[in-house]
Amino acid sequence: METGPDPTVGGWTWADDDLTAMAQQAAAVLADVLRDGPTGAAVRRPPADQVAAWADAPWPDEGRSPADVLDEVATTIAPYPFGNAHPRFSAWVNSPPHPLGAAAAGLAAAMNPSVAGGNHAAVHLEHLTVRWFTELLGWSNTAGGYFVSGGSAATLSALAAARHRAAAGIGHDDRRDGIATLGRRAVVYASAEAHSCVTKAVEALGLGSANITRIGVDAEHRLLPDELDRQLTADRDGGVLPVAVVASVGTVNSGAVDPIAEIATVCAAHQVWLHVDAAYGGPAILLLDEWERTRRSLARADSVALDPHKWLYVPVDAGLVLFADPSTARDTFSLVPEYLRTAGDADEPVWFSEFGLEQTRPFRALKVWATLSHLGKAGVRRLIARDIAAAQALCAAVTAAPDFDLLASGLSVVCFRHHPPELPDDELDAHNKRLLAAVLERGQAFVAGTQVDGAAAFRVCVVNPGTTTTHLMALLDEIRACL
Ligand SMILES: *Cc1c(COP(=O)(O)O)cnc(C)c1O
Repeated sequence: METGPDPTVGGWTWADDDLTAMAQQAAAVLADVLRDGPTGAAVRRPPADQVAAWADAPWPDEGRSPADVLDEVATTIAPYPFGNAHPRFSAWVNSPPHPLGAAAAGLAAAMNPSVAGGNHAAVHLEHLTVRWFTELLGWSNTAGGYFVSGGSAATLSALAAARHRAAAGIGHDDRRDGIATLGRRAVVYASAEAHSCVTKAVEALGLGSANITRIGVDAEHRLLPDELDRQLTADRDGGVLPVAVVASVGTVNSGAVDPIAEIATVCAAHQVWLHVDAAYGGPAILLLDEWERTRRSLARADSVALDPHKWLYVPVDAGLVLFADPSTARDTFSLVPEYLRTAGDADEPVWFSEFGLEQTRPFRALKVWATLSHLGKAGVRRLIARDIAAAQALCAAVTAAPDFDLLASGLSVVCFRHHPPELPDDELDAHNKRLLAAVLERGQAFVAGTQVDGAAAFRVCVVNPGTTTTHLMALLDEIRACL
């Protein structure tokens, strides 16, 4: 016999028809959002009165109907997106959402598992999807990894494992004793082009950003392996504890690809953890023939960070951290003592929560799996090649134009500046910063600004297969229109 409060009171229980109506309305709004994203202005900031209304809106005492809530999503929220669905958005590294991935994100929420572990579909799907990546890396079947919120969380997880291994190597238990009593300076090596998340991770891990040793780069912004080798040799002699070397395949600023094979050889000689930041460039390196040599050398990394929510078009959030030997990650994070590690039922894989920071974990794998299953390797390859071709066309146009300078380019990133022949050199930075602000104000193109070797630049990153050369040529005209 039922006891306790009636679940229909308070609207917890939904009639079948109401559930279907809500889901259909949500699906219609979702389709409209996906259809509208690429249209209109690239920059669509919410009007000031809307921002003010959001700032004041109270949590109502009594709730509203689902239809009313979804109407508000359609009329006052969806019209003001970040902009990354738009083909004239080429700022930072933010791809448009793959429509099937967006739908899968909703379905994952409907299933709403915690993917900490257990024996249910979401756990197996995450193992399956992670395996697709470890196989591309050419790693053995003992390799592994898991989805996280993004490249930043992946880097934090990887460097925590690197710190743990380095400390264990000198008989120190960093988990119990921290690093204050390490007795040595613990150092992470990276080029100045490494993503800021490396600094964040080093600071959060208590290593201190003063203990990041910056290794020089060549003219194409690639880390210099010889300089790394010399630095590691000197540091060993000086009693430093090397924690990790961070290399990048696809730096965020200019798309530079570090020479991984040479760096891996240096790391092996010094027995230092090699972490490769493939957050942006990973998919291109793993799938395109011209990067075959780099892909092979990636297999020599200890850990790799890769963002499906960037160049695999999976909706945010979908980051991925991969470990050649996941047991180090388990030793770093697991709080289940060895004697309590029961096998569960026979088909139950090891728990993801033992290998990382998150305990309750969302079903990120579904949107990754759905997007990649639909596109196949060949589909992703074609889309990425298209993005690169569009970026190369922009490179060519910038190089050919008498009023623009190409400052750097790699993968699908192009950095350039406007350079009218008559303008004195010391006014170029201010001129380009003013132009960038004016372009964003006009709102027809959404591009980022950056610095290349100290010079102010426009930075375009094409991770949208809807972006054509026409859109990119229009950007150059937008910049000229702001003169
Ligand atoms: C985006 C990016 C990161 C950080 O990843 P998030 O997903 O933003 O946390 C790290 N490295 C590179 C090269 C990136 O492009």
